[in-house]
Amino acid sequence: MNLQTTIAQFKEYLGRMKMYHSAMAVIYFDTATVAPKGDIEGRARRSGFFAAEMYAMGTNDTMKNLLEALAPHVDELDTATAAMYRLAKKQYDKVVKIPVDKIRAFSELRSKSQAVWEEARKNNDFAAFAPYLKQLVPAVKEQVEYIRHDDASTYDYLLDDYEEGMTMEVYDEYFAKVRAAIVPLLKGVTESRKKIDTSFVNEFVSIADQRKISEFIAKKIGYDLNRGYIAETVHPFCNGSSRNDVRITTRYDENDFLSNLFTILHECGHAIYEQNTGEDLLGTILARGASSGLHESQSRFYENVIGRSEAFWDYITDELKTYLPPAFKGVTARQFFEAANRAAPSLIRVEADELTYSLHCLIRYEIERMLFTQDIDVMELPSIWNSKYEEYLGITPPNDALGVLQDVHWSGAMFGYFLTYSLGSAYAAQFAAYIKKELDFDAAIRKGDFVQITNWLTEKIHRHGLTYTPRDLVKNIADEQLNADYYTQYLNDKFKTLYQL
Ligand SMILES: [Zn+2]
Repeated sequence: MNLQTTIAQFKEYLGRMKMYHSAMAVIYFDTATVAPKGDIEGRARRSGFFAAEMYAMGTNDTMKNLLEALAPHVDELDTATAAMYRLAKKQYDKVVKIPVDKIRAFSELRSKSQAVWEEARKNNDFAAFAPYLKQLVPAVKEQVEYIRHDDASTYDYLLDDYEEGMTMEVYDEYFAKVRAAIVPLLKGVTESRKKIDTSFVNEFVSIADQRKISEFIAKKIGYDLNRGYIAETVHPFCNGSSRNDVRITTRYDENDFLSNLFTILHECGHAIYEQNTGEDLLGTILARGASSGLHESQSRFYENVIGRSEAFWDYITDELKTYLPPAFKGVTARQFFEAANRAAPSLIRVEADELTYSLHCLIRYEIERMLFTQDIDVMELPSIWNSKYEEYLGITPPNDALGVLQDVHWSGAMFGYFLTYSLGSAYAAQFAAYIKKELDFDAAIRKGDFVQITNWLTEKIHRHGLTYTPRDLVKNIADEQLNADYYTQYLNDKFKTLYQL
């Protein structure tokens, strides 16, 4: 068969898989938001059906034959088709190399572990979860043993799987810099005489008013609501089935309107990325963010680099007050800016401030690294966890529910994922440094001109979707890889000034 015909068939086939993917995205969103409880089982059956179809399509003989037909011609493929081939092949290899009974056993272990973890966290009972964690690590090692095609260690494989190109060597160097910068900075902040007033933050703002604020902020920042929607869930997320249908969710607290405001900025960052993937990628498997780390870089860019800048508050404060009750009348832009950046050691990662966030990721990285490269007893994890919190943040969790049991990831065998959150912050600072070389960043924000900033991100990042590996995408921007110096510089500049260090 001629190559062009094979390519056309391959693309058509992947396009059909994408249809299933889009359908599942809508079911997922529906389930999390408005779908009636009475049809839980029906929906589970439907999404199980789509998942099984996707699995079959990704591993059946049609896929096998298409991949084999294309293999000798990889060098002749255009960039987009080569990317599709790379992704489909990776997925195919991952699944077909593991015996079906092993896949089933692993997925059962994972579901059980998640259920046990949920109870264990509720009951503050690490001993109940420990036997599952103890089984998950070798189970993951076994899976990786089937898939990997080089002799990289299991943990390196996992790191690369979540963020292509990443290894322990890269993260060791990255976190060494992050730790060396943040730990002393946090110490300075904690001891600083500068105290930030946050009392006004907890003034009551009705949910009705906060909904208006959500829409106001989302529109300002460039989230196209004609191709989007804001719903409410306990755990906010962004979910897209195509660039023309990218939805987000948020959560409201009547006594903390800033929490919603920053959630909106964060989720809008994810959504703007998806909405700005290239029109030429529409309907293809490339029409999504390049990696977890890069996705998170966009959400943190809008949430932190823009949303927690003084320029942003200079711009937004007056207009925001038209939605806020009279209690906020006397609050200045500077006060909002300072309150939005108050930093302090805390126990819970998802509630951590911009300064301390990466320390939470660092601790998880060091523990995961030990789990996979050293022979440690999982029963020691609570004490290892607590001593690391003491060492880096100067606080000790009073119990395991607020310590080692707090995150869902390990129960779902997601080892290596936490790092992508920290990478997001680092990339966001790195991109901001590049943008600042090309335009007056603060002046643009002070005018509310977010368009030229989003245009830069779209040109360099968003429009490419999954066409490039994350490493190539970053390298194409300024001929440089991940560089923690931008991030540490950014944090130093901000927090030294704010806390007068
Ligand atoms: Zn996010």
